[in-house]
Amino acid sequence: MDDCVFCKIIRNEIPSKKIYEDESAIVISDLNPQAPHHFLAIPRKHFAGIHEVPGEEETLFETLFRAISETVKREKLNEKGYRLVINYGEKAGQTVHHIHVHILSGREFHWPPG
Ligand code: AMP
Ligand code: ZN
Repeated sequence: MDDCVFCKIIRNEIPSKKIYEDESAIVISDLNPQAPHHFLAIPRKHFAGIHEVPGEEETLFETLFRAISETVKREKLNEKGYRLVINYGEKAGQTVHHIHVHILSGREFHWPPG
């Protein structure tokens, strides 16, 4: 996707702070952190939402969760507690239309979420 900010980060056309990367996914620091630790786990392949991933591409989920798990261990977020969030659509607050999982940690999180 030519004008997708996360595709541009994946193609190294715009800078980012990479925490983890492998052949299928990257994890970067969020530019506008909402917690002391705020990372974004992003599959290299562009889909707007998880429901758009076709059956033949379902390894995307496995590799994305592996990237999250590795990040949690590297950053020791398991010791602090962490929250994972995926926003889809305007009403849920999605602003970048490329699947990404927010990894938030380092403060208390409330339930239900706002
Ligand atoms: P969402 O609102 O769920 O679509 O989340 C998009 C997230 O991407 C927001 O938390 C933004 O702060 C973050 N973001 C947007 N542009 C960049 C960028 N160039 N580098 C890192 N994070 C970004
Ligand atoms: Zn994209």
